[in-house]
Amino acid sequence: AVTVVGASDLDEEIELAARWARAQVEGGAQRVGVVVGDLAGRQAALRRVFEDVFTPGARCIGANAERAPFVLAVSRPLSTYPLVDAALSCLALAQGGASSLLAGRLLRTPFVRGAQREQSARALADARLRAERRERWDWLEMERWAGVTGCIELEAAARAANGLLRQYRGRATPSVWSERFDAVLRALGWPGERTRDSVEQQTLAKFQATLAELGALDGFVGALDLRGAVRRLRQLVAATRFEPETPPAPVTVIDATTVAGMRFDALWVAGLDSTHLPPPAAPDPLIPLELQRRAQMPEASAAATFALARSRLERLVHSAPHVVLSWPQREGDAELRRSPLLDGFDSLSPEALPTAPVRPLRERLFEARPELLAERDERAPPLATGTPRGGARIFELQSRCPFRAQAELRLGARPLEHVGPHVDPMERGKLVHRVLADVWAQLRDQATLAALDPAALERMVRESTERHAVQSLRPATRHKGRLVTLEIEGTTRQVLRLLAIDRARRPFTVKQAEQDERLEIEGITLRLQPDRIDALEEGGTLLIDYKLGAAHRASHWLDLRPGRPPAPQMPLYALAHARGLAGLAYAVLSPGAVEYRGWAAQDAIAPGIHVYEHLRRRPGHLPDWQSVLAHWETVLRQLARQYLHGEAQVDPLPQECTHCGLSILCRVHERPLAAQQEGEDEVVDE
Ligand code: SF4
Repeated sequence: AVTVVGASDLDEEIELAARWARAQVEGGAQRVGVVVGDLAGRQAALRRVFEDVFTPGARCIGANAERAPFVLAVSRPLSTYPLVDAALSCLALAQGGASSLLAGRLLRTPFVRGAQREQSARALADARLRAERRERWDWLEMERWAGVTGCIELEAAARAANGLLRQYRGRATPSVWSERFDAVLRALGWPGERTRDSVEQQTLAKFQATLAELGALDGFVGALDLRGAVRRLRQLVAATRFEPETPPAPVTVIDATTVAGMRFDALWVAGLDSTHLPPPAAPDPLIPLELQRRAQMPEASAAATFALARSRLERLVHSAPHVVLSWPQREGDAELRRSPLLDGFDSLSPEALPTAPVRPLRERLFEARPELLAERDERAPPLATGTPRGGARIFELQSRCPFRAQAELRLGARPLEHVGPHVDPMERGKLVHRVLADVWAQLRDQATLAALDPAALERMVRESTERHAVQSLRPATRHKGRLVTLEIEGTTRQVLRLLAIDRARRPFTVKQAEQDERLEIEGITLRLQPDRIDALEEGGTLLIDYKLGAAHRASHWLDLRPGRPPAPQMPLYALAHARGLAGLAYAVLSPGAVEYRGWAAQDAIAPGIHVYEHLRRRPGHLPDWQSVLAHWETVLRQLARQYLHGEAQVDPLPQECTHCGLSILCRVHERPLAAQQEGEDEVVDE
């Protein structure tokens, strides 16, 4: 019997096929086939669905390995097997110049000596490695790093490998390299002490055979250096397709091209929509089309392709007593049609098909969940007054999200840093700060700036930028060197644009730049470091904070929610310098904008620094400059008290979680839906 079934999409089609196959096996079928196009590309998804249907318990943590009653008849490159990938990574590190991403992977791999015993130490070593910012790794570096981070077994393995690598300098034949690679991998304890399952055993044997194949290249390639030998091995391993042998299973998931000639008790053929059956004609591009047609080559014309597809379908239909032909009605957003070759067969709805009533494990686990005991504990132990860590950041975090302030500043909870080839934004910020401090240390006042020849000023800025860039950005590699050159150009341009604005201002003297000072508030002694304070000729001071992001605005100094300004750092500086404060401003240095953004007490000090009382959208309860200063003092004292009392509610300001990596700790997404929606509504209102 042949039945045609239309599934709503590709996922449902595969799930239906798996449940139908299970029903067939339960009904006594010995050989069930499921034919899927692009098996190699979809094998991960297929394996997941078939495991879910046939061995759902195997996905539980700590479950005993169950032998799945299905096989995926597909081979893939040997290099994609984790055990082989680990071996290639070990050899890549032996070459030197490896990235910190690769070093991190080797710290986490289970295939190197002592991986299980040192699991925690190596995980911490990987976390610390992100702050190391070293860009060239080899086994010598790894030995040092393992020693520093307490990974004793890894250190010993790396030392043994380094001992061998020191002897392996120079060129050698592939057969010599084959033996050397084997020795280095053994010195590293590859493939680890874990009990290997059958697939890993076979993968290991296949890799060793491939390593031996490298040795057989002596007659074809000359002597190679280490780099060349690793490259050859990589090519060999990538070109070797491998499919571990598995014991016979009642269900075979197979590719349409491999299934020819096989017989089954029941067969499901998936993916028979009109775009795939018949497939488009695909004449050989290297043979004249006319010749191909005359020779009646099967894929040379639409008619021949149609005939070939029809005969293949005929064969499939006759290869089992029960056959289901299925097609997905959608693929992504595209609507599909069933193949015209399916006309003439009986159709059935998916619900009418005999399928095993299997519910996914996640559904069953969810239903069997224990009732949660909810207990709100939103207060950390109170903090003794003194000099807590964090400085001005205490106020910023306490205002933005009390939980984040307590978790980050008191518990030291921090997300893992990202490692990448870019220039770290923190380093970029330091560079701009140092250059501006350096330039103003030489200029001292606006009169000197105004008198300086523009070419001399540019020389001064460029020379300072280059000097500080070498110190803070450390262009150790050629790639980093290019990035640093771009940074020098960008920073020089932005600093010169800011100086051009300062040149046009009324006279001022730089009173202090990047200078430490102390402020006591509610028993907390804070160390502050305003970026710059200008003494204005007309009297009073202007507080300046350099910012590299274009998103910084003066409006962030006011409350977004009662008592909670998103950026209370400048108000804190204002509190420390309230006497004679004429204004405060961000000096924004971003690629799109270099400008001041701030407020002044009475006179506009520079373009972008507006008189507060002239602002159209100032809050009703803060009509003038004095009321703003008084409000800031109240708010900052309140935030200080909240921090000292250990107030730690998971209560972020709108959009705060987007830039915070602690959601796994605070579990903000488990808050009741109403509370989450409230936050989202505020974002819209804003
Ligand atoms: S993710 Fe959001 S709620 Fe959680 S700590 Fe960060 S800011 Fe607060």
